[in-house]
Amino acid sequence: MTPTAAAVSTGFRSRHGHEPAGVWFAPGRVNLIGEHTDYNDGFVLPFALPHRAVVAAAPASGSGSTVTSAQEPETVTFSAAGVAPGDLPGWAGYVAGMFWAFREAGYPVPELDLVLDSDVPVGAGLSSSAALECAVGVALADLGGVRVDRTPMAVLARRAENDFVGAPTGGMDQMASMHGRPERLVFLDTRDDAIELTPFPLSGHGLTLLVIDTRAPHAHADGQYGERRSDCAAAADALGVPALRDATLEAVEALTDDRIRRRARHIVTENDRVRDVVALLAGGADPRRIGPALDASHASIRDDFEITVPHVDVAAEVARDAGAHGSRMTGGGFGGCVIALVDDADVPAVRGAVEKAYADRGWTAPVTFTATPSEGAARLS
Ligand code: ADP
Ligand code: MG
Repeated sequence: MTPTAAAVSTGFRSRHGHEPAGVWFAPGRVNLIGEHTDYNDGFVLPFALPHRAVVAAAPASGSGSTVTSAQEPETVTFSAAGVAPGDLPGWAGYVAGMFWAFREAGYPVPELDLVLDSDVPVGAGLSSSAALECAVGVALADLGGVRVDRTPMAVLARRAENDFVGAPTGGMDQMASMHGRPERLVFLDTRDDAIELTPFPLSGHGLTLLVIDTRAPHAHADGQYGERRSDCAAAADALGVPALRDATLEAVEALTDDRIRRRARHIVTENDRVRDVVALLAGGADPRRIGPALDASHASIRDDFEITVPHVDVAAEVARDAGAHGSRMTGGGFGGCVIALVDDADVPAVRGAVEKAYADRGWTAPVTFTATPSEGAARLS
């Protein structure tokens, strides 16, 4: 259940004995299409989820800052004025990292007491980490009395994740969490962080976007991520372009190394698919028409980029066979979630078919929910 401002305020009051100065939130996200394109200067098309991290905060009553999460047993203490990369391993690094990034940017950083709660599934590829960072970021800006616009806030949050936590991720998650809007996709050009909000009117067309959290055990995801990055860099090198964003399909097809060619082909065709989807939706097309691009994206990440596993292939295929207009794995790969674009009337059939396919194989049941493009980070009360 999405934590309400009232519930998180109550949590703050019972811990600290007084009201918080305010409550802020930031959402998780799902990527509609554009996979592994972000570190190739390419295009991504995420939207903000209704699932969110909510944080109640007030100036600290002690000399340092404290943070408590409903999802973690222990309160963590740190100094906003002095905390540095390496000081805080574990979940609180995503929080303290924002204080550090603010300080590095020259913004005031008050010592705060923070109490947070989140319904973004952790580690499912729905960006619980960016939700946490951005929620803390908007709280920190308000209580520090500074205005930080949405894109610069996303950049600070990425900095916290890359340079404080030490996770070498692109900037899509934070941009989606900051810029999300109801019925809109966040079309992001990762070369220059330019965004365009693209219409995605699902309910008006009798459509549902299902997210199927496969709960597949993540296997080797970290090492494989690094290998894909270096394969892409090798391809760009061989082609003599700054990034695969600049390569043509014709040039890619002429690459002699089979693996490098397939990796590059995924990136080049995926960028085209993102632009095709945006052109359709921006032109007011029925969203059903993006289905083939979703299917083609899945085939490309399965066959050329090779980042799927049986759990996600089965979910994508069974959803399609049960009536989805398109389906694909979303996120970094080797597990995580599958999305499916489904007529409202077909939702029970698609959900049931995937559940049955998993049960037949003796796999842990997937968790399925409806994803509605939702608001980006803001103050709640
Ligand atoms: P994802 O962002 O895809 O969910 P990550 O590995 O990037 O996965 O981030 C997950 C990490 O973020 C968790 O392991 C935890 O450290 C932190 N985190 C996310 N949500 C919370 C929360 N509600 N409370 C505490 N830590 C959280
Ligand atoms: Mg994350």
